[in-house]
Amino acid sequence: MSESPITASVDYQRDGIQHGFLKLPHSHDGSAWGHVMTPITVVRNGEGPTVLLTGGNHGDEYEGITALLKLSNRLQPEQISGRVIIVPMLNHPAVLNGTRTSPLDGGNLNRCFPGNPAGTLTEKLADYITRYLVPISDVVLDIHSGGKTLDLLPFAATHRMNDKEFEARCLAGAAAFGAPYTLFMAELEGDVLFDSAVEGQGKVFISTELRGGGTTTPETIAIAERGIDNVLRHAGVLGGEVETLPSQALEIPDGDAYRVSEHAGILEFTVALGDWVKEGEVIARIHDMHRTGTAPQEYRAPYDALLIGRRHPALVNVGDTFAVLAVPR
Ligand SMILES: [Zn+2]
Repeated sequence: MSESPITASVDYQRDGIQHGFLKLPHSHDGSAWGHVMTPITVVRNGEGPTVLLTGGNHGDEYEGITALLKLSNRLQPEQISGRVIIVPMLNHPAVLNGTRTSPLDGGNLNRCFPGNPAGTLTEKLADYITRYLVPISDVVLDIHSGGKTLDLLPFAATHRMNDKEFEARCLAGAAAFGAPYTLFMAELEGDVLFDSAVEGQGKVFISTELRGGGTTTPETIAIAERGIDNVLRHAGVLGGEVETLPSQALEIPDGDAYRVSEHAGILEFTVALGDWVKEGEVIARIHDMHRTGTAPQEYRAPYDALLIGRRHPALVNVGDTFAVLAVPR
């Protein structure tokens, strides 16, 4: 495979703290020899494990972006042993645009892995992450949240694996994050996710969802910041004990947990995020926007479950995932 067109202005092997960029050539009407400049911070203090911390994989998920921008201001080399690589705004054009995907090529970074060095801008970025950043990392924490269209209970997540020893190591990492919920996810599109690119290299991958709605709260930022420090301690990069807190163990059992709308209209939830629902219980109604006197469509829970995610906007279309369910494990 050919070399990446991306060059880093930081030296991953140098001790100290460096703030720089991943520079990806991007020739366009506004700048003939321009670049996509992805901000990156490297903090290194001698030999030791490497933790890669990423936010803004989707550009409208502000919990990770904010917590990692703050970390890049506060983390000092003398506090760590080993190396911390911080990329708070992984899909930087999307972050600048306030959108989930890149306005430059429509790229949804977390559907572009493992990437392609000769592909679109977003595929080139995914390829650099897969072939240059992940191989030098031991643990990867990728902080997501619901973005503008979803609101999800704050959880850290990993996946069921065939290799149970590896599954246990990944679950220990997710549990160390210390979110109020710790989850095994069943993914809709596993092969093209950042998760798969990391797990395929035998590295511990931890992801999160920390509310959303296109904003942050003091609570979600606190969960993100505590979780980052906990993962750094768990990896042995930062001193001190992991701050353990009660966390409920959950699992997304199957694809049915993602409830998809077959109607367009006004979405009315009859249960709240974090409520337990019974099999057959109405969880939402969708109201017709074109006439009065029409009974709403009712959507019911397929099994006893916890409502861990909901669509944030009230307007819903055919095909939208409007509710996400999980069960205890
Ligand atoms: Zn995301």
